[in-house]
Amino acid sequence: MGQKIQAVKGMNDLLPVAQKDFKLTSAFWQAFENTIAAWTRRFGYQQIRTPIVEQTGLFVRSIGEETDVVGKEMYTFADSNDKLNLSLRPEGTASCLRAVVEHNLLYNNPQKLWYSGPMFRRERPQKGRYRQFHQVGVEALGFDGPDIDAEMITMCADLWNELGIRQHLTLELNSLGNMAERSAHREALVAYLQQHEALLDEDSLRRLHTNPLRVLDTKNPTLQVMANAAPRLVDFLGAESRAHYQSLKTMLDGLGIAYVENPRLVRGLDYYNLTVFEWTTDKLGAQSTVCGGGRYNGLIEELGGKPTPAIGFAMGVERLLLLVQEYGCLKADGAPDVYAMHQGEGSVLAVLTVAEQLRHAGIDVYMHCGGQSLKAQMKKADASGARFALIVAQDEVANGTVTLKDMQGEHGQQTVAATDVITLLQEWKK
Ligand code: ATP
Ligand code: MG
Repeated sequence: MGQKIQAVKGMNDLLPVAQKDFKLTSAFWQAFENTIAAWTRRFGYQQIRTPIVEQTGLFVRSIGEETDVVGKEMYTFADSNDKLNLSLRPEGTASCLRAVVEHNLLYNNPQKLWYSGPMFRRERPQKGRYRQFHQVGVEALGFDGPDIDAEMITMCADLWNELGIRQHLTLELNSLGNMAERSAHREALVAYLQQHEALLDEDSLRRLHTNPLRVLDTKNPTLQVMANAAPRLVDFLGAESRAHYQSLKTMLDGLGIAYVENPRLVRGLDYYNLTVFEWTTDKLGAQSTVCGGGRYNGLIEELGGKPTPAIGFAMGVERLLLLVQEYGCLKADGAPDVYAMHQGEGSVLAVLTVAEQLRHAGIDVYMHCGGQSLKAQMKKADASGARFALIVAQDEVANGTVTLKDMQGEHGQQTVAATDVITLLQEWKK
């Protein structure tokens, strides 16, 4: 016997059953995917699917060389011909924009798009933080806002409501202004941080000149007092940026969507400007951010497209579903309607035929295979969670009938002509 080979650390299998350290099941996940498909349709967004691998330069240019994601977390490798340096995608926006620019989708046409799929970051695996994780993301390209900014947030709130977790999520909001405002603030911030240089930890010292805004995002509690007193970006916003921010807040107020302004919210990727937001929860321990997004007006141009305003957000599916599983209301419907069993000569063909007829009538049928006693099959039928058992044994084969048993309701058991079983089932299902 060969040695067992295990999955890569931090990369999960999604199984029909819950695992000890990863409780999500494939049926639950699939129910979520159905919800997402309907939700995006409700808002008029169209799906985009891009490759999982891209040229490394795409992420360096869009996410930023000095970010944690690009600096330390990417899975990067040389392609075999050594000419291309490739990376597994760590997020979805860069790929989406690459595709949109490459295929010229924005020519006279704003786009409302969504994507979903695995992302890869080499981080320390723990609950809610994996090396392969999944995101559902939404991008609106070619819109100035703030109406679309409000729609984005409404869209999130709509999904949280449907998933029954709205009360467990807090919306945090900030504005990062434009480039000029950010650089004026950056100067003041660097000067301030230099005054407090003795306090800074290693990470913050590194970021002081490369990405000082991120110092404010520190998770180090001893730095927070200093960070709280640092010059705030909101105080550097000009009239236009302030008006954008204010009108978004007015719309959220009007919609009854509560938010907490967090002047230190900067987000981990470099490309944001104006509106940024995160949805956080106190129910998932340290991995508190379920969804994050914001405006990135310069990014499309940076990637070789015409200057185009844009905004988007992405949610971490594992984190979200861990929350939904414990506190929300998404029903994973794993059980078939009918568990079909058979015994004796001629019964296989008969049950295969009737099962296929049922499926054509929209009834889900699991067929027992492998020929055990009817009693053993009935046990399996019970355990399957199916509401009905369909039995084809010797008598049924001889008479062209089937027996239907209602295992959960009040109808008991009845033998009918095989041609009548659909009608009977539909009656019993009511
Ligand atoms: P965090 O601060 O938790 O590291 P982030 O700012 O790096 O998050 P984003 O790049 O904004 O995350 O990605 C959007 C969402 O994707 C996050 O809010 C989170 O829910 C999820 N996410 C990010 N990294 C991981 C990961 N390694 N494992 C699971 N989910 C993740
Ligand atoms: Mg991160």
